[in-house]
Amino acid sequence: MKFRSVKGTKDILPPESYLWQRTEETIRSVMHNFNYREIRTPAFEETSLFARSIGELTDIVGKEMYTFTDRSGTSLTLKPEMTAAVVRAYIQNNLGEQSSLVKVYYLSPMFRQERPQAGRLRQFHQYGAEAIGGEGFSVDADVIALAVAVLEGAGISDYRVRVNSVGCGKCRPAYREELRAFFRPELDRLSEESRERYEQNVMRILDSKNDTDRELSIGAPLMKDHLCGECAAHFTGLRETLKLLGIDAEVDGTIVRGLDYYTKTAFEITSADLGSQDALVGGGRYDLLVAELGGKSTPAVGFAAGLERLLMVMEKQAPREAPALSPGIFIAAADEPGRKRALIKTMEARRGGIRAETDYLGRSLKSQMREADRQNALFSIVIGKKEVESGKGVLKNMQSGEEIPVTLDSLVAEVQKRTGGA
Ligand code: AMP
Repeated sequence: MKFRSVKGTKDILPPESYLWQRTEETIRSVMHNFNYREIRTPAFEETSLFARSIGELTDIVGKEMYTFTDRSGTSLTLKPEMTAAVVRAYIQNNLGEQSSLVKVYYLSPMFRQERPQAGRLRQFHQYGAEAIGGEGFSVDADVIALAVAVLEGAGISDYRVRVNSVGCGKCRPAYREELRAFFRPELDRLSEESRERYEQNVMRILDSKNDTDRELSIGAPLMKDHLCGECAAHFTGLRETLKLLGIDAEVDGTIVRGLDYYTKTAFEITSADLGSQDALVGGGRYDLLVAELGGKSTPAVGFAAGLERLLMVMEKQAPREAPALSPGIFIAAADEPGRKRALIKTMEARRGGIRAETDYLGRSLKSQMREADRQNALFSIVIGKKEVESGKGVLKNMQSGEEIPVTLDSLVAEVQKRTGGA
């Protein structure tokens, strides 16, 4: 019987895994510069957390969640996104008591049973950030600037930032009625999905990928033109701040979030290098979610981005070589006494911070040296009975061929000196 990885999941193999690590380091370092700190939450949560926060009518909750019942009969779900889990952790751990503006980031696998295609997986990885506790537009600007800084840090320069405002509980209800009135005469022509949304979540019709829906949406009233004074001032302040920070953001009135707890800012960053799944980053403000999940009413804003998609864009715009991770030294054994000493020296080198390798397969000396070459080791040394008895050997620079007489006692120090550690 042959096993294969589950459809929509992927192995990340070396050397590609090194590229992931380096990209993750870039993400972390930019997050840390913005003074965001890492939060890690469990891989699964109670299903009702996601149902409640993401919304029963969304594709995620309606069709895509990996939900299972555990042996005690509790319905659990592998996390399809992080915001709900972060807010749950924020409330449960009283994070708001420690700081009035909690800034956290994450980097984690997510799970959604979507139809796999390029840039769309069933287990994928998101990095993202949430700033909980600030209501001013400068926090929204900080979050957008952070999302942009990660892209820039990864060497990406060709992307589009689009912002919108989805209003609030004061201005949205009247706008929704106006939007319904706009679609009412065409209700029969809308797709089945949009007809459902008409009742429950009318703004999401503007989000439809269906061609007829899109055609029927032309000329629809947009939330950004119906904002109350507070939301309008917030949106203007955000755009001015982004300009001040040198971030070129277009206004796009069709970016929507269907759920009531989303307020004011919604934004997206896309890249033409991604093809049909062109969204790299999605985010926005969710001032009503903390209260919706049982916490004290607390404003918040955040973003989520796909790591696989970031890597795809990097490959096009800023390709990086996977670091070679070659051994600093390969310690070969010429015979049995040499083998024991080689093992001891290898461990010593590793403790000394040098990436060291030896032979574990009882290979001939010739084939050990071939292996040292194949792995691109910087230095090598052969240890046999002669070297063990004399306590001396010859360190070889594998690139230049230079041969350096050393004592076995000073071997590690000699390699450290020449490799700066690794
Ligand atoms: P969302 O939480 O749906 O707003 O997604 C945020 C970001 O995660 C998107 O912009 C994508 O970059 C990424 N993403 C979402 N779903 C997937 C998926 N199935 N496979 C890969 N990346 C995804």
